[in-house]
Amino acid sequence: MELSIHLPTLLLLSVTINLMVGGLLWLVYRLRDRQSCFRLWALACVTFVAGSALAGARTVIDVPLVTVLAAHLCLGLSPWLVLAGIHNLLGMLLVGGGKSSRVLVACGVLYVTGLLVSHAGDALVPRLLTALWSALVFSVAIYRLASCARTPRLPFQILQTIFGIHGILMMLQVIVIGTSEWEMVGLDVDAVLTLILAHHLMLATATVMALPLLAFTQAERNLKLLAERDELTQLLNRRAFFQQGIAAFEQARAQQHTLTVLMIDLDYFKEINDQWGHEVGDSVLSFVATIMTEELRDGDIIGRIGGEEFAAVLNTGGRREVEAVTERLLRKIAERGKWMDGRPLNLSASIGGVAISTQTHSFNDMMRLADSAMYQAKEKGRNRVQFSASAHAESC
Ligand code: GH3
Ligand code: MG
Ligand code: MG
Repeated sequence: MELSIHLPTLLLLSVTINLMVGGLLWLVYRLRDRQSCFRLWALACVTFVAGSALAGARTVIDVPLVTVLAAHLCLGLSPWLVLAGIHNLLGMLLVGGGKSSRVLVACGVLYVTGLLVSHAGDALVPRLLTALWSALVFSVAIYRLASCARTPRLPFQILQTIFGIHGILMMLQVIVIGTSEWEMVGLDVDAVLTLILAHHLMLATATVMALPLLAFTQAERNLKLLAERDELTQLLNRRAFFQQGIAAFEQARAQQHTLTVLMIDLDYFKEINDQWGHEVGDSVLSFVATIMTEELRDGDIIGRIGGEEFAAVLNTGGRREVEAVTERLLRKIAERGKWMDGRPLNLSASIGGVAISTQTHSFNDMMRLADSAMYQAKEKGRNRVQFSASAHAESC
């Protein structure tokens, strides 16, 4: 059975879907605080539709300025607008800085110049140039998506796959157009180019359908970050810390893992505020958050649970290991907080710690015990660590 593609039908379908998705993206742009990426993607749909329509008009009118030059400029602009939208969404600069940006701009200039020079001649040259340009833009898009470490990864991977296949297809088109000996080996060049065009139309449509997925998952991620993070230090806020702490506690109990909760309170912090002002106090809090993030492990849970109170859940209950961590924390805070921006702050902290045991029935129990151990550390003269005696004795 021979599978034949009716190109005009496919073109009509692709144009219709792109117009609908473009309209939807424009609506989303108008309704969602005018987030520019949606406008850029809507424009990418429009330029793709315009380019396809103008190129399709070749069979009816013979004006190369419109059916070749304008058509290819639109078709070349479309992937660039997709890339620009991705940059806008992820907060990256599209041009300026970076080797890939300079390569992209230089190739863009070459591409447009090539189109201007060749549009009235052989119709295959503009097609070859647009295919090369599109493959380059797709490669840059794959690279930029890969270099962004955000989650969830699935929408990134879907787009990278689509761009990858699309780029390969464009290069295949370049090879088919650029080699003239195909007829000699019995290959029907027109049929192959039609097949490539058909896939190109489908991939372009798949791209504009996958882009909103990326935008919406990123918006959700940003909202989650806003809801979970303390604005000043970017550590977990109290609510998120307790939520994650409870989950870690339940998991440790179920799997019989050890776990330690630390409560960290800055010493005489009020005096820093009183003497140097609230702004200096704020930068001290950010500084302590940085030290905690640097000194604790990736899997540990760190939060700011009150004004100058921090807490952490460590995935270990080994007394020696925890002592090493807490002593390192105190040393770093004291060393790096002795002077800050020319001010003698003499920063220090008191830490209370507790390990999971048969006496800790809930995460709240552990937090209570760590808190009272921390107050004992204060009473004993501050700048020290105190472990909750009963619970720790049993766990070690
Ligand atoms: P101690 O050694 O007993 O812990 O004394 P302290 O001064 O650290 O504790 P106290 O509870 O008396 O004071 C805490 C201060 O933390 C009071 C409050 O103004 C300040 N504070 C709370 N939240 C913030 C904040 O977000 N920024 C700044 N700059 N200060 C804050
Ligand atoms: Mg304090
Ligand atoms: Mg306090």
